[in-house]
Amino acid sequence: MITRKTKIVATLGPATSSKEILTGIIEAGVNVCRVNFSHGTYDDHAKTIQLIREISKERGIHTAILADLQGPKIRVGKVENNGVLLEKGKEIIFTSQECTGNADKVYISYQNFPQDVYAGETILLDDGKLVLTIKSTNKVDEVVAIVEHGGILSSNKGVNLPNTKISLPSLTTKDIEDLNFALSMNVSWIGLSFVRTARDIIELKHLIAEKKSSAKVIAKIEKPEAIREIDDILNVTDAIMVARGDLGVEVPFHEVPLIQKMLVKKSLKAAKPVIIATQMMESMIENITPTRAEVNDVANAVLDGADAVMLSAETSVGKHPIKVIESMSSIISDVEQHESVYNYEYPPEEDNHDRFITDSICFNSCRLAQRVGAKAIVTMTFSGYTAFKLASFRPKSGIFVFTGNEAILNLMSLVWGVKAFYYDKYVSTDHTIADIKYILKKEGYIKVKDLVVNIASMPITEKGQTNMMKLSYTE
Ligand code: PGA
Ligand code: MN
Repeated sequence: MITRKTKIVATLGPATSSKEILTGIIEAGVNVCRVNFSHGTYDDHAKTIQLIREISKERGIHTAILADLQGPKIRVGKVENNGVLLEKGKEIIFTSQECTGNADKVYISYQNFPQDVYAGETILLDDGKLVLTIKSTNKVDEVVAIVEHGGILSSNKGVNLPNTKISLPSLTTKDIEDLNFALSMNVSWIGLSFVRTARDIIELKHLIAEKKSSAKVIAKIEKPEAIREIDDILNVTDAIMVARGDLGVEVPFHEVPLIQKMLVKKSLKAAKPVIIATQMMESMIENITPTRAEVNDVANAVLDGADAVMLSAETSVGKHPIKVIESMSSIISDVEQHESVYNYEYPPEEDNHDRFITDSICFNSCRLAQRVGAKAIVTMTFSGYTAFKLASFRPKSGIFVFTGNEAILNLMSLVWGVKAFYYDKYVSTDHTIADIKYILKKEGYIKVKDLVVNIASMPITEKGQTNMMKLSYTE
């Protein structure tokens, strides 16, 4: 039985497309499978999602699926010989007219680029490996730039424009198609790349609601604008991802560690899950062990208070997808021995009347559990709200969520320390509490004489605010 609290997100791809490997990574501890809509066909994605569901069902576990939308990602077009050399000091034209590029001219997938840029702004290619400065724009279809730091530019590489106010919509036509496909597959989480403002998330949520889906949203934080607007974004999103890959290109890389800590802290206070992503175990794309720096990076993400840590190329195209999950899992388990991982105290806001009673019960049930050394905190929830809230206090006791809402079961797999069970009997509070303790004991999560904290809403049939807390021994 895996008792690890910090969850693992694995990006799927060619390295993890067979049932055998998928089974291997799920058994090794993957909680959330990320389907990246920057790559692959709907057919591939549908097959993989089907396989994940099959494997999870066979094992009686809940694996969440995260559909990651590309957002306004800018790329260069195809280039000659699949790679051209950009030399320092030379000029190159970026054109919004499609063409096969060479060392003098390349296509950029951003129609309004010539209208949106100003001389002096920076163009970064291939995750910042190539650096250029804009010299001039004809404001129609061509921008001239000077190579500051050269190198080989190959086809379809990503473009980052850290100083430019990009007018592309937050959800492209492709994103909306991908979203509709993902919702038709009933995924739990939708990630949106390059979020700039809270409005991006509101728009996405609106589209999700239109399809009558209960999918929840992850704002990928990888733009300086999003850092500036983080409080507004956290207000409306369901979770965030510290997308360090693009973030470390869009802002100076040396600023990323403190931004990570700031984002985790704010997410915890807002009781919204936070994922730390990119290059966590990068060297394991090739090697069978991580570097010592990578081990520390994973450990520090856990110590910062992340809900989940994510793997990208390590599991999508890497050579050792199962080994990387095993390694990550063992780092997390060791770090979680440390007391500083637990018991965060953010007393509920007194002016939040809507949720004040629920929040106070969650907060104090975690304190009670800490004081008496309870093994479990149990909540009954339909919306999942109390589970997010309890998790945000990082109790050492297990958080067990019983819900009659199928959609919540997989969703919870991203949330720190939470284990979810399907439960749809509502006889009486006393009966339910006894019944649930029996289930937890039978499954081996608690044993006789263990203390258990139950929270619930009374009367149970009304499914109102959580207003009750009970402490009892397991019989
Ligand atoms: P990506 O997002 O892998 O979709 O680019 C993560 C990141 O930028 O870190
Ligand atoms: Mn990114």
